[in-house]
Amino acid sequence: MIAQVQKPIEEILEYLEGRDKVVLVGCGGCATVFHTGGEPEVKEMADILSRHGKEVLAAIAPPFGEFTCYAPWSSKRLSKYRQEIEECDAILMMTCGDGLQVVRESVIEGEFGLLKRIYPATNPTGHMGGGPALFKEKCQQCGECLLGKFAGICPLTQCTKGLLNGPCGGSQDGKCEADPERDCAWMLIYERLKKFGELDRLREAEPMLKDYSQMTRPRKIEVAPLVLE
Ligand code: SF4
Ligand code: SF4
Repeated sequence: MIAQVQKPIEEILEYLEGRDKVVLVGCGGCATVFHTGGEPEVKEMADILSRHGKEVLAAIAPPFGEFTCYAPWSSKRLSKYRQEIEECDAILMMTCGDGLQVVRESVIEGEFGLLKRIYPATNPTGHMGGGPALFKEKCQQCGECLLGKFAGICPLTQCTKGLLNGPCGGSQDGKCEADPERDCAWMLIYERLKKFGELDRLREAEPMLKDYSQMTRPRKIEVAPLVLE
């Protein structure tokens, strides 16, 4: 999921200075889980903006499970608000940067053919897994997964130095030398491989550099489209 926090309201109001008619767009995915763009937050933002003299033409809060970064869903939902979008001075996206850019590119400009000012209401802080309350970074989406070699623990992400041929030698009592609050990822990998009797895996040296051609940005992937009801 894309972890995110709401931007300070002052920053949001600064974006919206001189733009009186606003459309709000939330997200039924990550932004709902992280309380930045679910139904209550969209409603609250509409109230705050109204108190600051804005006219909120539409406060769109997709239901839980409807991801704004999925263009077909955004297209379906926003098409019901086309008139409000045409009339507005600005769109405030209570989503991550994926949601904002998908809506801007695919729906507002691509499908509707409109040029609209569009602003973020959140600061995305990374791709994380977990919950219900605590989320942690688990994977950097390197495009060449090594979890099968390292007992289901990602050295690139869980080791502070991202070592592929660890440990670094500085670990003390199973803790990381750079951050004694956290477990040394390589100790965890070692212990798990030991339980499976697979310590020999650690004798196979990994190339010092990963294949970063898999990580050139912006990355893309093509899949068969889902059929929406
Ligand atoms: S090796 Fe680590 S960063 Fe790469 S895909 Fe696997 S979990 Fe993600
Ligand atoms: S102590 Fe362990 S987790 Fe920390 S940098 Fe060294 S190998 Fe990585």
